[in-house]
Amino acid sequence: MKRISEIYGSAKGPVYSFEFFPPKTPEGDTKLMETVQELSSLHPDFVSVTYGAGGSTQEKTAEIVSLIGKNHSIPAVSHFTCVGADQSKILESLKRIRSEGIQNLMALRGDPPRGQGEFKKTPGGFANATELISFIRSENLDFCIGGGCYPEKHPDAKTLEDDVRHLKLKVEAGTDFLVSQLFFVNSTFEKFLNLVRKVGIGVPVIPGIMPITSFSQIERFRSIAGCEFPSSLIRDLQEVEHRPEEFYRRSLNFTVNQCRELLDMGAPGIHLFTLNQSHASYDIVRELKGGSL
Ligand SMILES: Cc1cc2nc3c(=O)[nH]c(=O)nc-3n(C[C@H](O)[C@H](O)[C@H](O)COP(=O)(O)OP(=O)(O)OC[C@H]3O[C@@H](n4cnc5c(N)ncnc54)[C@H](O)[C@@H]3O)c2cc1C
Repeated sequence: MKRISEIYGSAKGPVYSFEFFPPKTPEGDTKLMETVQELSSLHPDFVSVTYGAGGSTQEKTAEIVSLIGKNHSIPAVSHFTCVGADQSKILESLKRIRSEGIQNLMALRGDPPRGQGEFKKTPGGFANATELISFIRSENLDFCIGGGCYPEKHPDAKTLEDDVRHLKLKVEAGTDFLVSQLFFVNSTFEKFLNLVRKVGIGVPVIPGIMPITSFSQIERFRSIAGCEFPSSLIRDLQEVEHRPEEFYRRSLNFTVNQCRELLDMGAPGIHLFTLNQSHASYDIVRELKGGSL
């Protein structure tokens, strides 16, 4: 199975990828596999599977990645975090993932467990993704490694400039590609990307895009992630909040245009956060591919 860096290195056009999360129920598992089946008809370049913050689904991430590789021959990335684990536990998990033939890893610090205000390093563990990635490289596990990045700044960083300086250290530690947190204002991404390039980060930076499927979702992204939204989008969607078909049409239109503009700006691809739903992600990528599959 291809490494993600090879995919970006050899792509003749935009690279399209989808992100899934490991479900907690058997019904969720069935739904996910249906979603993967539907989206596979769009021939995505790769997919990724997140790592459960709470722990209950963590083992499932690598299982789903292997299953997608086996059943659909789509390269897949296994997400991984260092929350609540010391070096020996991390090494054991990484060796198990590698022994399953998985070579693409999204290496993240992770968020503090629920109820714990700020991230605290586990004794014998790591304080941030830079330390985790240095460790993975020092163990010669031969992963292609992705990292997260934050166009609107990571909440723990004092300034965007500080965050980008840390990002440089993370890339120097051995990160092969970066996937961004969701954002809705392209000029924010552009400003971030300019800073990233200015400090000498040269790896692919892939915009992470979330289709908007409800108005309450906007409120959630605003309050949890502090996302900025174009006021014209809020106005347009608020007008049709209770007309699902028109809401869908307008939000789809917004996301397709957002992606087109990003690709025109030189983004190497689009990474869609699917929330394990196929409908919107399918329509967006089909539109971006010009309806031709
Ligand atoms: C694309 C994407 C996918 C994600 N997938 C998952 C997932 O599957 N599971 C999950 O639980 N969470 C996931 N997350 C969320 C992520 O775990 C949180 O956002 C977490 O708070 C930060 O993780 P990180 O690896 O980006 O952090 P880091 O890169 O470690 O950054 C966290 C903070 O540490 C600082 N920092 C980084 N390196 C240094 C350094 N060398 N010195 C000093 N400070 C430093 C940064 O500036 C920042 O303020 C994902 C995020 C993104 C963007």
